[in-house]
Amino acid sequence: MYIVMLGKPGSGKGTVGKMLSESFGIAHISSGELFRNYIKKAGNIGKTIEEYVNKGILVPDDLTIKLVEKRLNEKDCENGVILDGFPRNIAQAEELDNFLKEKNKKIDIAIELNLSDSDIIKRIITRRICPNSECREVYNLDFKKPVKDGICDKCGTELIQRDDDKEDAIKQRLETYHNESEKLVKYYKSKDLLYAVKLNMNSGKTSEDVVKEVEEKFKK
Ligand code: ADP
Ligand code: ZN
Repeated sequence: MYIVMLGKPGSGKGTVGKMLSESFGIAHISSGELFRNYIKKAGNIGKTIEEYVNKGILVPDDLTIKLVEKRLNEKDCENGVILDGFPRNIAQAEELDNFLKEKNKKIDIAIELNLSDSDIIKRIITRRICPNSECREVYNLDFKKPVKDGICDKCGTELIQRDDDKEDAIKQRLETYHNESEKLVKYYKSKDLLYAVKLNMNSGKTSEDVVKEVEEKFKK
């Protein structure tokens, strides 16, 4: 099963994607995490990537596609993948379709988590992540606090704020979303693959609720 997660930065697609990957027993690939790992390794590729990520703009397609496809060719991706953060523009989506087609595979569904820009900004400013690459749990000081202040519940590592989760970079990332990634909603809709979930800060709908909805849909 190949699932694409769509949504603005901070919409919760990473959290939902991770839960779905556990539920369906398939790999979860986050292009943002993949990139942050390259940045941590501090080689030349990492340096190039860092310039784009810190500005909140897209890493060039050729590099992105090369690194994501390398990851997709690994053994744990054979039975399916939750793709989170890739594709992020039409060129990447078309490339992904071709890549899967060559393997006689295809996207089964694209899940869009839809929130307003103002809700997104509120959510991202209070987002904290576990920097332990084996854990990567995501918290929110508003609605998903760690039990102990500033410490990851799962592994005990000190939580951090992502460099690009500061207000200026968030605004740039939202602009990038509107200019490039939003088109993907129509792209998958026209292929009849879109499953849109409307969320807002007051709806009380949690990531768990969204996961349940998707599980139900696939049982049918
Ligand atoms: P978020 O969805 O919260 O913005 P991600 O972790 O998905 O964060 O991405 C962080 C950054 O990594 C993006 O702002 C962008 O610079 C880069 N990035 C991630 N995925 C892609 C992609 N598919 N194509 C180009 N750049 C990407
Ligand atoms: Zn942790």
